[in-house]
Amino acid sequence: MVRLMNADLERVIALQRLDTSAHDAQRRLADEPERTKALDARLETARQRVASAKERLTENQNARRAIEKDVAVHQGRLSKFREQAMAVKTNQEYHAIQKEIGYAQTEIKALEDKILERMLEADELTALVKRSEKELGDEQKAVDGDKKTIAAEHGELHSSLERVAGERAALVAALDPQVLSIFELISKRRNGVAVAEARDGICTICHVRLRPQVFNNVRRNDQIIQCDSCQRILYFVPAPATATPAVTHLPH
Ligand SMILES: [Zn+2]
Repeated sequence: MVRLMNADLERVIALQRLDTSAHDAQRRLADEPERTKALDARLETARQRVASAKERLTENQNARRAIEKDVAVHQGRLSKFREQAMAVKTNQEYHAIQKEIGYAQTEIKALEDKILERMLEADELTALVKRSEKELGDEQKAVDGDKKTIAAEHGELHSSLERVAGERAALVAALDPQVLSIFELISKRRNGVAVAEARDGICTICHVRLRPQVFNNVRRNDQIIQCDSCQRILYFVPAPATATPAVTHLPH
């Protein structure tokens, strides 16, 4: 025997479905600023990586220039010593100058080693700048894509909200006013969920066991019955009729 569901019960179930989907859409819309902010933060991190790599490269170049200036100073002294060496009159003077020349050469050699180090570092930093710029470009593309998705979803969510509001108005107009006021009251008290499925004798939302007689009535789906505990309007989903009986092994 096919039992028809009470029309108002059917309407409150539909109403709940609409409210839940509207609630989800609104929450998704409310999340948008946070999602956009997270995307901007990702981009900012990538930008900072580029800036920091460029800064390190500039520091490297400045340091190298400073060393090159030192080299120039020592080279100036070196050529002065060499000139002096040609004009010395005593062995002692000659040795003293040679010693100075030796010092200057050692100093220049050490500075040139430092320049070489800086050059190697510059190669690495140039590669780092390129790599981080490439990453920034990739990140920009990804973020642009995600922002487009958010914008598209924004439009969809708004049109879905409009559609839901229209369907809701039609349902509300058809619903018994007393049932509607029960629905609205519980919805307000119970975080927007006024309807609950009863399954295996239990309210599936508050998990309280229903009295057997109440559950039996709920199973019929032919009246508005509220959970004794959470006050939500209860409905029952019958098990789908099985087309073929399960194969059983009969004992001999
Ligand atoms: Zn309940």
